[in-house]
Amino acid sequence: MNFFNLHTHNLNCDHGIISLFPEQLNEITEGKKYSMGIHPWHVNEKQIDNELEIIESLAKQGKILAIGECGLDKIKGIEMEKQISVLKHQIEISDKYNLPLILHCVKAFDELIQLKKESKSTQRFIIHGFKGGRTQTRQLEKQGFYFSFGKALMDNNAKVSESLKSIDKRHFFLETDVSEIPIEKVYRKAAEILGVSIEILVNLIERNRMAVFVTGY
Ligand SMILES: [Zn+2]
Repeated sequence: MNFFNLHTHNLNCDHGIISLFPEQLNEITEGKKYSMGIHPWHVNEKQIDNELEIIESLAKQGKILAIGECGLDKIKGIEMEKQISVLKHQIEISDKYNLPLILHCVKAFDELIQLKKESKSTQRFIIHGFKGGRTQTRQLEKQGFYFSFGKALMDNNAKVSESLKSIDKRHFFLETDVSEIPIEKVYRKAAEILGVSIEILVNLIERNRMAVFVTGY
């Protein structure tokens, strides 16, 4: 079965999006699918221009099918103003090349919503590793965000399970991120929470994948 993994750092993944940082440029191999972005934990001011150029050039050549992971983090990383500026540039690239964004967001959802509105981006904004409750989910849904669930489901986080149950099923994905858990296990967990068969869930996410990743997959 096709267990699509929205976000992983495992370079061997063969059905999913392998998330790279610009310094991993040489890891790109034929036949795999990638995203690339500047993570808010790794913003190095001297490198920003060069890294944005790398990302834009890959986007232009069709070598990545999403921008990210990128985003905002109030707990870790450099000052928010700078994080916002780096993210803005990445939103511009995503818009220019029609590529979805895979976002890391920690305690900065208001800023993220604000940025989405201000940029007037028509891109799909996917929040990876989502662990928000229903109120936050609703607030983000109103702004058209997508969600990708992983670790929090495996940790039996009841609040996140409720969010998964309540969301629009056209707007979600599953992922492993840095975890070594097989993606199939995340699907099994999500199927159990949703009370659907694994086949239905796989088909649902395949449909979402085709709707969101219109180019390059
Ligand atoms: Zn990640």
